[in-house]
Amino acid sequence: MLILGAGFAGLELATRLSETLADEVHTTLIDRNEAFSFGFSKLDVLFGRKPVSDILLRYGDISREGVEFRRERVQSIDPERRHVTTDAGSYDADILVVALGAAYDFAATPGFAGGGVEYYSVAGAERMRDALSDFHSGTILIGILGQPFKCPPAPFEGALLLHDHFVQRGIRDAVEIRVAGPMAAPVPITPEMSRTILDALAERGIEYIPKQDLVALDTDAKEVQLAGGGAIPYDLFVGIPVHRAPDVVEQAGLTVNGWVPVEKTILATRFPDVYAVGDITALPMAKAGVFAEAAARVVADDIAARLHGDELERPYEGAGTCYLEFGDGMVGMVEANFLGGPKPTARLVGPSRELAADKVTFASTRRARWFGS
Ligand SMILES: Cc1cc2nc3c(=O)[nH]c(=O)nc-3n(C[C@H](O)[C@H](O)[C@H](O)COP(=O)(O)OP(=O)(O)OC[C@H]3O[C@@H](n4cnc5c(N)ncnc54)[C@H](O)[C@@H]3O)c2cc1C
Repeated sequence: MLILGAGFAGLELATRLSETLADEVHTTLIDRNEAFSFGFSKLDVLFGRKPVSDILLRYGDISREGVEFRRERVQSIDPERRHVTTDAGSYDADILVVALGAAYDFAATPGFAGGGVEYYSVAGAERMRDALSDFHSGTILIGILGQPFKCPPAPFEGALLLHDHFVQRGIRDAVEIRVAGPMAAPVPITPEMSRTILDALAERGIEYIPKQDLVALDTDAKEVQLAGGGAIPYDLFVGIPVHRAPDVVEQAGLTVNGWVPVEKTILATRFPDVYAVGDITALPMAKAGVFAEAAARVVADDIAARLHGDELERPYEGAGTCYLEFGDGMVGMVEANFLGGPKPTARLVGPSRELAADKVTFASTRRARWFGS
């Protein structure tokens, strides 16, 4: 059993296989990095709540029966033969799971790499933290550069937390915060949640500019150009980068229109014994860790059912619960189900301070489960 990628999906899959099939299945888990970090921990780095060293969960700490972690970079995937090469060797898998997540395409937005900042990567969050400390007045524009992107509320969390940041520094009046993106509303599948987010933004004097296709940065004029003509000015541009499948997955012939199609109830690709899970799939749903993790559990259960000649009991529904920071210590909880019914559903609970504690528990239970710490 070979799992490519040790993010939310790969970590949960390896853990569940160890719990249920350690005697029967040997799992090799591959990732190019030496450590995992939760998506939301980038906000901790950005706002100086934690140093990078505190958010890294080292793969070397994984100690699960039947699971072997290898730090290698995947260089090619042959899904027909389930043959994988890395910078350190090659593998022939009986069952292959591709969980390599979404990559960022900075070059897709001319001017962005050199002229903007971002908090969607750990290194980017560190750079943006430093850029913020030098920022004393002017307009910060958070621009959503393409769809789909990870964690749909994250651009708005960023805006709400920026508000707190400048209030604490006593210079909120000198800073304008705006968010612009292609969506008609912050979270289009749920008008109720969009309304709550828009209200929270408005209370803090933050504007959302909907239906904007941001195509390039003019870094001399300090404005972002729009697809239909026109431009939005900024002093500091914060981009939510264009997302796409990693090159190695595209080159493998696994993608259609940029993402990997899968059978939605069991996450199987069109290649026998090759699954794809997490952000990399083309499923019509939000890209978030909770869904990647839930999908991984289904794949583990499907593998167990097939090995034992049983039926899979609970197919994938694209359901999960995730958290949204509103600032000032308040956290909301989103309960979503994308695939289980005739249409997607999502419900916002809170925000409240109790849910902030739940979010901490969410992270600590994963840390204990995956890394034993
Ligand atoms: C700011 C921010 C906030 C977020 N907040 C939340 C939240 O509150 N709740 C939530 O559920 N989700 C949140 N997310 C989204 C969440 O982080 C992702 O959806 C989730 O990580 C997807 O899991 P995955 O396993 O599919 O991919 P990933 O976690 O991205 O894992 C993919 C792995 O593949 C590895 N990889 C890629 N290419 C190669 C290669 N060639 N060779 C070897 N390894 C490779 C990568 O190193 C990575 O470890 C947030 C994301 C961001 C950026």
